[in-house]
Amino acid sequence: MTGKGSAALYLRRGRYKTVPGKYYRTPKEIWNFRTAARDDSPEGIAREFVVANAALFGLERGISELAVQRLIRSLGATHVIFRQIHDGYRVHRGYVTVHLDRAGRVYLSKNRSVPPHLLPGRFEQNIGRDETVRRARRSLPKRDRLSDARETERLWFPREKELVPAWKVRLIRTSPREEWIVYLDARNGAILNKYDNLAEAVRGRGQVFDPNPVTALGDHALLLNEKRKPRRPPPVAYREVVLEGLDGGGTLSGDKVTTAPTRDMRVRKPDLQFSLRSHEHGFEEVMVYYHVDAALRYLEQLGYKGARAIFREPVKANVNGTRDDNSWYSPVERMLTFGTGDIDDAEDAETILHELGHAIQDAICPDFGQSREAAAMGEGFGDYFAASFFESKKPPRYRNSVMSWDGLLAGLSGGGEPPCLRRVDSAHTYRNFRPRGDEHVNGQIWSATLWEVRAVLGRETADRIILESHFQLDGFTDFARGARAIVDADRNLEGGRHEPALKNIFRRRRIGLV
Ligand SMILES: [Zn+2]
Repeated sequence: MTGKGSAALYLRRGRYKTVPGKYYRTPKEIWNFRTAARDDSPEGIAREFVVANAALFGLERGISELAVQRLIRSLGATHVIFRQIHDGYRVHRGYVTVHLDRAGRVYLSKNRSVPPHLLPGRFEQNIGRDETVRRARRSLPKRDRLSDARETERLWFPREKELVPAWKVRLIRTSPREEWIVYLDARNGAILNKYDNLAEAVRGRGQVFDPNPVTALGDHALLLNEKRKPRRPPPVAYREVVLEGLDGGGTLSGDKVTTAPTRDMRVRKPDLQFSLRSHEHGFEEVMVYYHVDAALRYLEQLGYKGARAIFREPVKANVNGTRDDNSWYSPVERMLTFGTGDIDDAEDAETILHELGHAIQDAICPDFGQSREAAAMGEGFGDYFAASFFESKKPPRYRNSVMSWDGLLAGLSGGGEPPCLRRVDSAHTYRNFRPRGDEHVNGQIWSATLWEVRAVLGRETADRIILESHFQLDGFTDFARGARAIVDADRNLEGGRHEPALKNIFRRRRIGLV
C-alpha cells in the first residue's frame, strides 16, 4: 500500500515532536507537524499516514490489524480512531488515532497500540465460555452471584508489557442496580481485573484554578503582557485537588457530573491523574468536573440530598461546544455548554457556576426565565451563586465581583476596578429595571439584593433559603414574587426570624412583596 501517496505523508526526523510511551518504547503521541493538504476520505488519509510512518508507530507488521472504530467530526477537524486487532481479537485499550484538519492535513496522532514484537502467537484458550461465566460469578461478593451474564467477549488484555488472551464477562444485577465487568485469563481462568461499573466511585487527582488565576495571584496585572493581552498563568495560579466520585473508567464521568458530551477527543487517563495546565488539552474538562462536583456536594451539605436531591442524574457538560466567547445552559438538552473564544470560559470557575445556576433553577423550576424579570433573576441568581460559593477563596478586593478572568478584557475596556465581567454589589434598585434592557444588566439588581440577604443572614442560611424559594416559583415569575418566596422560605426553614431584615432589604431595593 505504499507509493507516491504515502511518501507525501512520511514524517521526516526532526520535523515533529513526540511524547514517549511508558512500556512499548513507541511514542504515545506525535505532534507539532502538519502534512500537505490532500483530497481523499479522512479514513483513507489516516490509514495512509499510519502506513507511511509505520516504523515510527512500531507497526511495521501490524497495519492490516487496524480497524476503524469511530470517525468523529468536530468543527475544525476529523478524528479517526482505529482499534488494534490481533489474531482476530481486539486488543483491550489498543488504538491509534489520527487527527486531520478540514483541508485533509494530518496534525496529530496518538498511539496506544502494542508493537508487533510484543504480540504473542495464537490466542490460547483452555477455559470455555460457560466455565468462564461460572468463575466470574464466583469471584463476586456473595449477594451478586445470581447476576445475569449479559455479554462475553474474547480479547487481548494488556498487563504491563504482556498481552494475555482473556475473556471479558459483563454481569448485571437489577436490584440494586450493579454491573460487574470481569476479565479472566483464557488459559487458566485466573481473574485479571474486575470492577463494579456503576457503583464503585473512585478518586482521581487534578489541577484547577480555584476559582481563577486572577484571584489566585490577587492582581490581574500579573496576567497581562506588554500588549495588555492575557498571558499564560504561572504554576502558582493552580491548586492540586482530589476529583471525587469518578466512575473509574478513565474519563471525567462520575455520579454527579459528566463531560461526556464534549466534542473532539475527551481526555482519558486510566490512572485518573488529570494534572494538566490550562494550555493542555483536557484542562477545561477537569475544571468543569471538579467545580460542578464541588458545588453539587455543597447543595447536599445544605440538605438537598437523597429524596430531596435537586438533580436525579449527572449534570452533563460540553466544555468546548463553541468557538464563541459564550456559554449557556440548554433546558432542552439539559446540558451545560462552554465556549473557547477569547479566554476559555471553563477556565473561570465562576463562569462554570453561573451556568450551573441556570441548570439548578431549571431542575427545580422547569422553564425558568420566560418573562423579562424572570430572565434577569436567572442571570442574577447565577452571579450570586458563583460569588457566594467562592467568596471565602478570594482576596477582599475581588469578593464583590465575578468572572475576573473570563471577563478580564471586557472589564479592562469597561474601566471598572477590579476589572471583571459583573459585580454583585450594584446600588441599583427595581426602579433601574429596563424592560428592554439586557437581562445580565437587569440581573445585577437581583444579584445585589441576594448579596445583601447573604450579608445579613450568613452564607449557608442565605444560600439555603434562596434555593428553597425557587420551589414555589414558575417560569414567568417576577422580582416581587421572588422576594415573597424568599420570605416564605425563611418562615418554613427558620421560623420567620429574618423576616424584618429581609423586608427591609426588599424595601430599600424598591421591590414590593405582592
Ligand atoms: Zn447566564
